[in-house]
Amino acid sequence: MSTEERCNFFDICGLPPEGPNPTCILHNSQNKSKWQEFNIIFQHLLKNGHSNFQKVYFPDSSTSFQNKTFIDDLDFTGATFEGELQLRNVTLKKGLKISSCQLSGILLLGVTVEGEVEIKQTRARHLQIVVREDSTFRGPLVIESTTAGNLSFSNSKFENQLIVKFKELSNIEIWAAEIHSLFDIQDCSIGQTLNLEKVIFGPKSEVNLCSSSIRVGILMGGKTNPGVLRIDGLKVNGFSKLASPMDSPFPMKIISEKKAPIFDWEKGVRFQNVDLSECLLLGNNFKNFQLNNVQWAWVGQPRPKFLGSRFGRSGLKDEKILREKKEKNMSLIRNLREAYEILKKEYEAKGNHLQSGLFHYGEMEMRRREYSFPKRYLGLEAFYWILSGYGIGWGRALLWIILIILIPAYIYYWDNLDNTYYDGWDWLRHSFQVTTFQKPNLPKGLEPSDCTKWTQTIQSVLGPFQIALFGLAVRTRIKR
Ligand SMILES: [Zn+2]
Repeated sequence: MSTEERCNFFDICGLPPEGPNPTCILHNSQNKSKWQEFNIIFQHLLKNGHSNFQKVYFPDSSTSFQNKTFIDDLDFTGATFEGELQLRNVTLKKGLKISSCQLSGILLLGVTVEGEVEIKQTRARHLQIVVREDSTFRGPLVIESTTAGNLSFSNSKFENQLIVKFKELSNIEIWAAEIHSLFDIQDCSIGQTLNLEKVIFGPKSEVNLCSSSIRVGILMGGKTNPGVLRIDGLKVNGFSKLASPMDSPFPMKIISEKKAPIFDWEKGVRFQNVDLSECLLLGNNFKNFQLNNVQWAWVGQPRPKFLGSRFGRSGLKDEKILREKKEKNMSLIRNLREAYEILKKEYEAKGNHLQSGLFHYGEMEMRRREYSFPKRYLGLEAFYWILSGYGIGWGRALLWIILIILIPAYIYYWDNLDNTYYDGWDWLRHSFQVTTFQKPNLPKGLEPSDCTKWTQTIQSVLGPFQIALFGLAVRTRIKR
């Protein structure tokens, strides 16, 4: 066959051209009236295991592939469909390409794909994609469209990544689907509630909603949860529930590292059994949050294991970042303080005094940082911080009591070296008694010097004061 006797796309179809046209019956966009001829050739190619349908013009209002197995990539790159493309009970040993196509919708029903599925740059005014009836995707599924669309995934299994790249989705319905890897839907405006409550998530699954905006809410927390939920810069305008089931072996870790998500809904966002230790939240109204069993960030020094929780406390990821960057942004600090004030009251109302105390610490710490140099280290807050860790540092308060006993004991001893009545141990006991307000009597004949008298007076004021601070700190830890 000479080159003139071939269709322009001979390498795809292997057919001669139609009449004066340089295209064959499969590749001619004018073949609408010749659909019967088209079908004869089309079925013949299918029978021979042909799977390359690039640039083919499909004249039917619904093109359907049924009960077929394809060994090679099923490729529709550049094809045009008068209506929708339907694959029913089709097994693909390799991948599926539906790129640069013109069509109105794609239905994948009971389809099994071993390789990658690529649905890209389709020319459709409103692309509708439906996946149903135990479809299984062993390779990644990437759907990309510059126009708006509707997606529906039900009763299907995604063993690999499911990546959705749309600017706008009127609705995305995921009903009883299994997700075992990444479900990625970034930078997308979603018109309805994103309901993931019926999704079955595998232990290695992750949902990425960074920079998307959801006009209603997100619902998560059915029988399973993904391991990670990324929500950097997400905007949500409706009631949202971000939860893991109570018995989840891996509570959902919600991550937002660069830009806090915004939950713009007065009636609440529920965080339940989740880890917020890597989630920025500042910029939200914390009064809208319902919090149940939330894991917070660890703020302060890295925790040496054998010392327990001595050198740090739980707080907000935002404060952690602020400290790491040594940020002195007053607006940030004030916002943090307000957030801690609200969280403190919230946990107080729950009866969780310890966590409430830890948020109180955060609040006071931010208040102290609001002050500039001298007051920051010499103000009342600074003393409260140093002497008792803002009323919750019982260890610190105890350390001061010990110092208040030891230092004067040494002064007494040193100031009365020439007496024969008391030795060092006696002075230690004396110091202890003064601190604990027991008004000890000195032995007859021992006349205390001015220095000893003054030390006693100051100690008898500082001692009980520090003991009171210690008592308050202990009470905060264990009160009912
Ligand atoms: Zn052709």
